[in-house]
Amino acid sequence: MKKKSHMSWSWIFIVSFFVLSILDFRFGILGFVCMGAPVYHALRGRGKVHCSHYCPRGSFLGKFLQKVSLNKTMPKWMRSKVAKNVLLILMLTLLTVSMIHAKGNFYKIAFSLFRFMGASFIVGIMMGIIFKPRSWCIVCPMGHGTGLIKKAKDSKNKKKDKKNKIAA
Ligand code: SF4
Repeated sequence: MKKKSHMSWSWIFIVSFFVLSILDFRFGILGFVCMGAPVYHALRGRGKVHCSHYCPRGSFLGKFLQKVSLNKTMPKWMRSKVAKNVLLILMLTLLTVSMIHAKGNFYKIAFSLFRFMGASFIVGIMMGIIFKPRSWCIVCPMGHGTGLIKKAKDSKNKKKDKKNKIAA
């Protein structure tokens, strides 16, 4: 059965996340859900379903930047594998460093996540204004990471199928 997309309204979650986190930084801890959801779906073998059906950030960018976007095409180098990998590694490194610095303190962890989510959201909006509305999705570390998990799963399944065919 085809899954229903919730992209027309899921932006409400990202707006709520920022409103709540500004009121109380502790809500920033919900950033783990935002980052974990795409990975969870990919690990369950659902590929990039989060990006196409649920992502609140993608929903926001697609919905609100349509009218203000200059709709320019992103330069080739920004869409390259190297750029995506660099951004993914940078994000993981920054996240790890901020978690180490937080030393298990809930407030600090939540604040780091809020800051992290906020910074990437601002970059995503700026990219969406200059380039096409959902340009951030081309380089998004979560989307890229999910794609890598999907690739690894697909190749594992292919190998399994091959083995089964030989054994049959
Ligand atoms: S690429 Fe990133 S921002 Fe875009 S839909 Fe996927 S997880 Fe969301």
